[in-house]
Amino acid sequence: MNDIKALIRELVAGNRILANEGVVDAWGHISVRNPDNPNHYFLSRSRSPELVEPDDIMEFDLENKPIKDDGRPIYIERPIHGAIYAARPDVTSVVHNHCPEILPFAITNVPMRPAVHNARRLGEKLDIWDIAKKFGDTDLLVTTNDQGHDLAKTLAHGKAVIMRGHGCAVTGKHIPDAVQCSLSIKNNANAILSGLKLGPIQYLSPGEINRPQGGQDSLRGHDRSWEYLCRRAGVSL
Ligand SMILES: [Zn+2]
Repeated sequence: MNDIKALIRELVAGNRILANEGVVDAWGHISVRNPDNPNHYFLSRSRSPELVEPDDIMEFDLENKPIKDDGRPIYIERPIHGAIYAARPDVTSVVHNHCPEILPFAITNVPMRPAVHNARRLGEKLDIWDIAKKFGDTDLLVTTNDQGHDLAKTLAHGKAVIMRGHGCAVTGKHIPDAVQCSLSIKNNANAILSGLKLGPIQYLSPGEINRPQGGQDSLRGHDRSWEYLCRRAGVSL
């Protein structure tokens, strides 16, 4: 039996960290798959991530229906989460955000490719999902399961996907991984946007990106980063 209460605390921490680091604002969300039932996931009720408390966390099935509908408002873009969990058994946590640094890559054809070392985890580039290709004129929000499945199709086996005119969806093998990957995308975007003012960008080579992870990405390094991010966000685990 898994410690669900500890998992919920970690999910609350993920919400607070993403808000504290400017990845999410009033909008955006993070979920985690239920380890006791892989066909369910946990996600806050509709609330800004900075304000999320353990009691806000609700459980959903992969059709994105609440397991206990208590009438509280819920995020309308939860199909992003259920569709990715359905398509990707390897994914345990999902982040959706409209991070301002990422938006330039959602409104141009400039690809998001790793330019700095800690963005190697993104793979060689992030694909862009354009909701209009299949669904025409929409409000650009992912509000139906069909839209979620189409997004998951473009994500395929990637670490994250850029959503045209909207933001991105990020996967993780656990909550800290999804949070840190979201931060890596933000930092990589920042470096590219600043670098472009100076000259052409030298992106990482495929060899650099695909090199096996070294000591920096060991479990110890991961714990060090998570501890730092929790402290900055004022949360304790
Ligand atoms: Zn959104």
